[in-house]
Amino acid sequence: MANFSQDKVVQSLITGNKTFKTSYGEGTKSQDFLKGQSPAVALVTCSDARVVPEAIFNLKIGEIFCIEIAGNVFSTEVCASVEYAVASLGVSHVVVMGHQCCGAVGAALEGNIDKHSSSIQTLLKRIQPTIAKVKLENKNMHSHDLVEVSIKENAKTTLSLLKENSPILKQSHANGSCAFLAAYYSLETGEVEFL
Ligand SMILES: [Zn+2]
Repeated sequence: MANFSQDKVVQSLITGNKTFKTSYGEGTKSQDFLKGQSPAVALVTCSDARVVPEAIFNLKIGEIFCIEIAGNVFSTEVCASVEYAVASLGVSHVVVMGHQCCGAVGAALEGNIDKHSSSIQTLLKRIQPTIAKVKLENKNMHSHDLVEVSIKENAKTTLSLLKENSPILKQSHANGSCAFLAAYYSLETGEVEFL
């Protein structure tokens, strides 16, 4: 077994968890957690360390079902997670949220994806069709604005792909039992803009 006793990062995690544990149960209904979860929102967003859904929306543990993946891209696994949230947990809202300065969208926009690992290439290829569309529609746009537009469009694309590829999600959208929204989070101001 690995010896983490000298590992400062692991020690900080252990210390942090001890602090967390002392107040755990005060603001949460930890006993209820053993019975299940009932979040109102399923959120697909980026794994970026600066994007912390509970903090951004001022929510407590158990109040938001998060699927965090670099570039908040669509995949079968992401789709399955959202389906579970909608069909089994009964969330009323699905939100796909992109964020300012998203490195994944930035890398897809930069192109030359061959320099990345095959796994990263697969991820960037998910974003490329959106980039191509945005570039075509905004031929004279400044590169700074192009990044922001691409990030917003990428969130909208993932939202559309979820509805298109899942009969469960398509139906819940059609019958109005679940709302589907794209959003953009500003790292600069902390504001979330619904698109
Ligand atoms: Zn990102």
